[in-house]
Amino acid sequence: MVGSAIVRTLEKRGYSNLLLRTRDELDLSNQASVQAFFETEKPDYVFLAAAKVGGILANDTYPAEFIYENLGIQTNVIHSAHLAGVQKLLFLGSTCIYPKMAPQPLKEEYLLTGPLEPTNEWYAVAKIAGIKLCQAYRRQYGCDFISAMPTNLYGPGDDFDPETSHVAPGIMRKMHTATIEGKTEVELWGTGRPRREFLHVDDLAEACCFLMDNYSAESPINVGTGKDLSIRELAETLQEITEFSGDLAFDETMPDGTPRKLVDTTRINQLGWKARIPLREGLEQTYRWYVERCTNAVSAK
Ligand code: GDP
Repeated sequence: MVGSAIVRTLEKRGYSNLLLRTRDELDLSNQASVQAFFETEKPDYVFLAAAKVGGILANDTYPAEFIYENLGIQTNVIHSAHLAGVQKLLFLGSTCIYPKMAPQPLKEEYLLTGPLEPTNEWYAVAKIAGIKLCQAYRRQYGCDFISAMPTNLYGPGDDFDPETSHVAPGIMRKMHTATIEGKTEVELWGTGRPRREFLHVDDLAEACCFLMDNYSAESPINVGTGKDLSIRELAETLQEITEFSGDLAFDETMPDGTPRKLVDTTRINQLGWKARIPLREGLEQTYRWYVERCTNAVSAK
């Protein structure tokens, strides 16, 4: 989702010399393959968006995969980028790196000031290691490696599988399916009270290009909208968008995760960047993308 959005943004800006590899062409968890790629291609700029990602249930169910794959991918890419003399690298983290009970909004300096949220600590520890890798290579070798911390993302290209997805695409699909099947209720997880901030992936892609041009420092930098809402409010908005007329049933045996994740975007705003896509508009566009894709998949069968 993120890599494709960055490619769309770079192409819109006129870059035609992008070095792209699919997962099948280059396994980023394979150190030798990654090193060979960097030695041969010698990229100037690297956007490190590749990661093993998932929603609250996937993170909680597959802790080993989340920590192992992310540590591997980022270590291989960052070290190879250093050896190949890459001019600048942007590493993408996540706001789950901040302590579970950190004050809100989350400022960049809250990193490593308290315990993490247990459902995604494996992913968070890997992402914190990624930030530290960038900082260490900057200090010891003078590499211009920076880290951006996006808030919860959504948009075209997302994972819509209700078992592994994040909340917005998960609920979209549940409501879409329930409407088709004539169900009167959709099951959601937790209490509906946690608050989350959502950023459209095209806004993130713009921010990544902006940071490549305008940011060079050791501290990670937050990327978000500065606005949050409760999961219940998100679900009610999605009910309107998907036209699902049934009820919301919250399964409180499922985890809530962090009570609130709202980032302080002062730093990136002061540099001159702001998110543009309003949540409602972004969710509507994402739902249209999902429905078109479903319809095409069905007619191709
Ligand atoms: P998180 O931000 O790392 O907690 O990741 P998620 O996007 O997976 O979950 C955000 C919040 O939405 C959590 O409080 C979940 O319990 C809640 N939630 C409610 N229904 C769903 C659902 O159907 N899927 C997911 N992934 N989360 C849900």
